[in-house]
Amino acid sequence: MSVRLVLFGPPGAGKGTQAARLSERLCVPAISTGDIFRANIAGGTALGRQVVQYTSRGALVPDELTDDLVRDRLAQPDAADGFLLDGYPRNLAQVRSLDAMLVDAGTSLDAVVEITADADAVVDRLLKRATIEGRADDTEDVIRHRLDVYAEQTAPIAKVYADRGALVRVDGIGDVDEVTERLLHAIAPAAAR
Ligand code: ADP
Repeated sequence: MSVRLVLFGPPGAGKGTQAARLSERLCVPAISTGDIFRANIAGGTALGRQVVQYTSRGALVPDELTDDLVRDRLAQPDAADGFLLDGYPRNLAQVRSLDAMLVDAGTSLDAVVEITADADAVVDRLLKRATIEGRADDTEDVIRHRLDVYAEQTAPIAKVYADRGALVRVDGIGDVDEVTERLLHAIAPAAAR
């Protein structure tokens, strides 16, 4: 299937889990900027050394680095027929950069999906995840900061996509399978176009 999607939502809303499932169901690669940064940090690459100072604080990585990374990734052959972007764009400047990348590629997004979850539920989830996965940015202070960054910088992108008629909102609270079905249902009209 050829579908181009953006998935965003507050930290802990279950974006990563759902992105992996949707990627499988829709047969498009899931491209997670957070995962790519973590892999580079773990691998000790030059990019990893540049970004860890931001990710460890829960701050956004500078747009220039992030935009370049996404531009390169979207140019890979596996993304030619569709993709699911998880965690990008994350502010208004990145929305504009993505717009330009898509214009250059002669394509456009089919849907932008916001997974919603209330702040208390996500802090709980993230603190639990911290004990299982040991993610460096899952300490309570850094989680709170990521939530603030989300509210200030990422939440406003919903309005931009809503004004374009591209936004779909899906409740991320509930059973993992149930949320996947909700998401598939919500994007079905766009995916069928
Ligand atoms: P979460 O949504 O739980 O915060 P992610 O895995 O999406 O987790 O992102 C982890 C971190 O990676 C972010 O806090 C940020 O530092 C960095 N990051 C991910 N995506 C972007 C982006 N599009 N722009 C800037 N920084 C990003």
